[in-house]
Amino acid sequence: MIKNINSLVRKNILELTPYSSARSLNLYGILLDANENPYCNMDVTERGININRYPDPSHTKMRKQLSKYLSINSENIVFGSGSDELIDLIIRIFCEPGKDNIIIPKPTYGMYEVSAKINNVEVKYFDLTEEFQIAEYNFNNEIDENSKILFLCSPNNPTGDLLNKDSVTNIIKSFNGIVVIDEAYIDFCNIENSFFNEINSCNNIIILRTFSKAWGMAGLRLGYAIASKEIIDFILNVKLPYNIGAVVTDLFFKVMNKEDVKRKNINSIISERDRLYKELIEIKEIKKVYHSDANYILFQPDNHIELFSYLIENGVVIRDRSSQIKNSLRVSVGTLEENNMFLTKLRKFYEIKD
Ligand SMILES: *Cc1c(COP(=O)(O)O)cnc(C)c1O
Repeated sequence: MIKNINSLVRKNILELTPYSSARSLNLYGILLDANENPYCNMDVTERGININRYPDPSHTKMRKQLSKYLSINSENIVFGSGSDELIDLIIRIFCEPGKDNIIIPKPTYGMYEVSAKINNVEVKYFDLTEEFQIAEYNFNNEIDENSKILFLCSPNNPTGDLLNKDSVTNIIKSFNGIVVIDEAYIDFCNIENSFFNEINSCNNIIILRTFSKAWGMAGLRLGYAIASKEIIDFILNVKLPYNIGAVVTDLFFKVMNKEDVKRKNINSIISERDRLYKELIEIKEIKKVYHSDANYILFQPDNHIELFSYLIENGVVIRDRSSQIKNSLRVSVGTLEENNMFLTKLRKFYEIKD
């Protein structure tokens, strides 16, 4: 469904003349245009980085490399300093502070709400069903004419499961705003569940991906958006010119050659996730263990507050999600040894209690 994207964009962004950086022209020769230091005080040249120069604001080479990897056009990709930066940019492009709103399911990832509030953009919520799926009438009841962006996360954080594809497709078709689908965890499940192929037919979708999870690069701060060219161009215009540094770019190219390592580690995480699930459902004090398509498991144990503290005191840090889903804790899948340590301490807690 082709929508009029410009009608959704804030007026000040539509009228913006973007910052014209010295490095966007891609000119060659002696570079005396950007007030850079001609000397490199720290020698990283053996890694091919001219650290004294500003990096390319349009990420041309990175976008080309990723476009080959994903088999889409470069013009449908933009990089952010983590997908968290992209969440903020998307809100700033489409939502007029004090007037427009975003709508998010409950429960979901916390950054959509925080980013909106930082930007003085109202947040509307709609409840997921008990199985953490979309009920379309809940969504339709909450939206109004100022609802600009719907954020969906699939697999959802912290619940772990994929959203039903038909419900998401229906909403994409019916909703007159932007639908962001955060696919931070898509590599831990069947890639068929991605909305990637829909970007050509639906120009109101933005897919977010990150190098922080399956790629194992959370410290790098690198994420990307996939969308129609018109949306990508707005993000390019609004982002800080040099949001992706030269060292990040360098490591991006290195990790892109490590697809085999990535695959192997994903497979270990998936098999450990499935083992962890089986072990957890055997523990009688755990009342519910949720199915996960991601690299974490949500569960509802007896005495969750005490258990949570006991684990921390014993050197195992997991996440308390009981503010979102009652009595719930979330554990990320670690290495075999880490998961065993978690299970041992957890069983120990209930032995002592008995
Ligand atoms: C971890 C996570 C991200 C990743 O954010 P980065 O800024 O790329 O590290 C994005 N979305 C969700 C739902 C996450 O859980």
